Order: sequence, then C-alpha cells, then structure tokens
Amino acid sequence: MDNLFSRLLNERAFLLADGALGTNLFSMGLETGDAPELWNIDYPERIATLCQQFIDAGSDILLTNSFGGTRYRLKLHRAEGRVRELNHAAAQIVRQRADACERDIVVAGSMGPTGEIFEPAGTLTYDDAFAAFKEQAEALKAGGVDVLWIETLSDSKEAKVAYEAAATTGLPVIYSMSIDTNGRTMMGVTPAELVQLGTELQTAPDACGTNCGIGASEVVAAIINMKTAAEQHQLKPVLVAKANCGIPEYVDGKIVYSGTPELMAQYARMAADAGARIIGGCCGTTPAHIAAMANALNGYRAGDKPSLETLERVLGKVSTGAKAQLGGDLSIAGGALNGGTVRRGTRRGSRKAQSAN
Ligand SMILES: [Zn+2]
Repeated sequence: MDNLFSRLLNERAFLLADGALGTNLFSMGLETGDAPELWNIDYPERIATLCQQFIDAGSDILLTNSFGGTRYRLKLHRAEGRVRELNHAAAQIVRQRADACERDIVVAGSMGPTGEIFEPAGTLTYDDAFAAFKEQAEALKAGGVDVLWIETLSDSKEAKVAYEAAATTGLPVIYSMSIDTNGRTMMGVTPAELVQLGTELQTAPDACGTNCGIGASEVVAAIINMKTAAEQHQLKPVLVAKANCGIPEYVDGKIVYSGTPELMAQYARMAADAGARIIGGCCGTTPAHIAAMANALNGYRAGDKPSLETLERVLGKVSTGAKAQLGGDLSIAGGALNGGTVRRGTRRGSRKAQSAN
C-alpha cells in the first residue's frame, strides 16, 4: 500500500514534525481545564490557523488535535460519547490544510494516554483500553490521517495496547513515550526497554521515540541511548524526537518555556546527530521555533553523536540516570540509585536561552 508517510521516510533524511498544540492553543484563548479536543468543533478555524502556521514554518508532519481523544479523557469533560465526532473533526481540519498545500504534508493522528491505571493497581483492563484506543484510531482514520502517532505514554503496557489497537486500522503506527524521570518514563521504562518493546508487538512499528519531558538535552540523550540499545539488539527503528522547548519553569503562577528558536535549531541538529529521523518540538514550541529548526535541518547531514559535554553545554543538564545510560549502563537500574531527577524549574535550557529572556 502506498502511504505518504512511508514514502517520505524513504525519500528524505529527516522529516520535520510540528510544535506544540496545547501551549499554543492557550495563547489562542484555551483555558486551563478546558478540553482542547472540543475546539475541533467549537473553534475549528483556530486549529486550522495554527496548522497553517506550522506548514508555513516548514513542518512535514502535522499532528491532529486529538491527544485527549479517548473516551477516558473525554469523560472528564462529559464528552465520552463524542469520540468519533471529535477525532474525525480533528483529522479533517489538518487533512484540509495538508491537501491545500503544494508540498507533501503527512497528517498524523495524535493518541495520548487514557490517564487510567491498569488493574490490579487501577481499574483499567486490557480489553477496555484496546476498545478505547481502537475507537479513537478508527475515527482518526475515517477523518483522513496518514499515520497514527501514539505519544507521551509512560506505561509500556499502555503503549503496547494502544499500538495493537492502532495497528488494526492498517495505517503506519508510531509510538513515543515521555522520558521525564531520571532517564526513564514516570513508570520506569528506560530508552532501551522502549526500543525493545517494538519486538514484542505483532507488527513492526514504523517509528518509535520520545516526546515532551524535561528539556531538549534529556530527549537527545534518550535518542542516543535508544540508538545504542537498538544496535546491541540488531534493530533499526526509525527514531522520533519531539522535545519541549527548553525546560518548563513556573513564572508568576504560569508554566513558561525558555527555549529560543536558536536553542531549538541546535537541538534539531543534535537530535539528528544522535540518530533521530523524525524531529519536532513539544510543549512551548511555536511556529517560529519550527521555522528555525527547518532552517537548521535543511540540507543537513547528520554528524557524530554529541558527547555528554557538548549536550550539557549547548542544551542543558542531563539527569544522573541518563548519564549512566550514556556511560554504557542501559540496565533498568542504571543510575537509578543515586539518581534524583533534573528538578523542574531549577535549570534553564542553556546560557543562550537565559540571556535571551
Ligand atoms: Zn509536551
């Protein structure tokens, strides 16, 4: 089956994804606690405007506004009966902008975590999770997405069930987890385990990687560690990096992201050097940041993987756990004991970012 995403991956060295949806929608009037997915029906022109800005900035892949589009997340807004409507609309908005563009633009259906915990610790069953992800994936497919993009997951069991449910549509599927806790996801999944998860799936994933988290340096470190683990197991996954725009900080009761377009441009090249082929930005990344990243990747040829020293000097501190992994200890325990995470709100993305603010 000819698929735009698969074709572009074959043709190009890198594909540039988009920036943040949530944080940019806040600047368009979304209030804390609102469901962004409701905007697909209530304010579709605002979503379309943001999509167009990312297209104009140079994104090759646009994610749909459907991160919280499972029935579990929508239930928090009494919209659990609107899964099909909201996801279909999310896909259609991006599809229309992509079709109107002369360049090839891949429409990726965003699927985020349910927010529930699996039994026995929680109440979520495999079958219920499968049904919820399948319901969302089918609606996104009906709305015209080229690929399904599972993102910001922490639990490998949830990543697996989301993947298997998404794969029933026959579309390419990407899974991406948030490595935000001392070189691991909140549920303890290491970059090495994330890559190996791909071998436990019924079909080979089209790409896997990491998004969101605690800053660009930690994402690049995770990509290096995924690449090392993949080589050790003779795997060749297409790797995805979608880092937040610097490190989130609380300023006057609001979360702000300190990364400059220059910082994100440096991150884009370092992510490429680390081995990522799909590169974008997560929270805080605006179209201006994406434009700088597009510029940085245009005609770029990936170099050697960055050293820890370069990573920390250019992009910011790396956690103890990620450092241990970079040092060759990819075990589950690596760097965990005397770990501690890079604390949120205490460090800036780089000296450059600091002087720019
Ligand atoms: Zn994010």
